[in-house]
Amino acid sequence: ENVPDPFLGCSYLPQELSGNGCYYSKQIQAINVSQKNLTMMYHTEVTGLMFDENNKAVGVKTDKGEIASDAVVLCSNLGTKPLLEGKLDLPTMQLTGWAVTATIDPMNVPPLHTLIFDNKDLLVTRLGNRVRVCGRYWLGESSHDMTDKVIEEIYEASCKLLPTAAQWTESTNWIGKCIVHPDSLPSCGETPFEGLYLNVCHGLNGWALSEGCAELLSDIIEKKTPAIDPTPYSPMRFVKRK
Ligand SMILES: Cc1cc2nc3c(=O)[nH]c(=O)nc-3n(C[C@H](O)[C@H](O)[C@H](O)COP(=O)(O)OP(=O)(O)OC[C@H]3O[C@@H](n4cnc5c(N)ncnc54)[C@H](O)[C@@H]3O)c2cc1C
Repeated sequence: ENVPDPFLGCSYLPQELSGNGCYYSKQIQAINVSQKNLTMMYHTEVTGLMFDENNKAVGVKTDKGEIASDAVVLCSNLGTKPLLEGKLDLPTMQLTGWAVTATIDPMNVPPLHTLIFDNKDLLVTRLGNRVRVCGRYWLGESSHDMTDKVIEEIYEASCKLLPTAAQWTESTNWIGKCIVHPDSLPSCGETPFEGLYLNVCHGLNGWALSEGCAELLSDIIEKKTPAIDPTPYSPMRFVKRK
């Protein structure tokens, strides 16, 4: 009900109530490993981009050597800005979120549905045999002191709001960071540099957006007509016209 028109899609996870991003990534990795023509390189840092005399992107420099390519897609989230330095100045800000996760044991009474405590800026969700409490999103740079304070607040709120939901004394803490544009839309598409494409700035919707953005971008690179109009998501919207 009351969905935006046109409704583009969402992830529906009726059993989990929330998704397991780590499991999802591992499944994608397994599919990738079975592709004969694909080489995955792990623990490899991209240190710079390579351009020819016409400013066409022709590959990347890495800590393991140079890799020449026909196309370069940057999907490096927080690592994107340094790689584009001196080439493209995108308006981005860092967004940070924190979470506390604890195991449910058979004696606990976990919530059956995802709960949002609007007045406390907290969301509680069940992940299999664990409960996760997250929230307190922060736009801008975040410090260690801030992390300590927020984790403490989430932990105390968890114990107070849901004392019997999980073993809070055995909980683990998590901090997540991503980048966002002022218009909250991703940068997915061509750049002013031939052969250089972006798929970044998904904000807090990156997991849900990832399949759609990847499909949109592959259509753009292969010069096919995408299923939806790519203009609102193009990084070119931030390029000053001369
Ligand atoms: C607190 C929080 C809560 C969120 N909740 C949700 C949610 O409920 N639903 C949802 O859909 N999305 C959510 N998101 C958003 C989602 O997690 C992100 O948008 C998504 O992870 C972005 O995916 P990505 O692949 O673009 O970037 P990342 O997952 O950050 O991956 C980028 C990768 O690039 C690598 N990298 C960077 N620079 C370099 C370099 N120079 N060389 C080599 N590798 C490099 C990094 O190491 C990293 O592995 C949340 C984000 C946060 C911070």
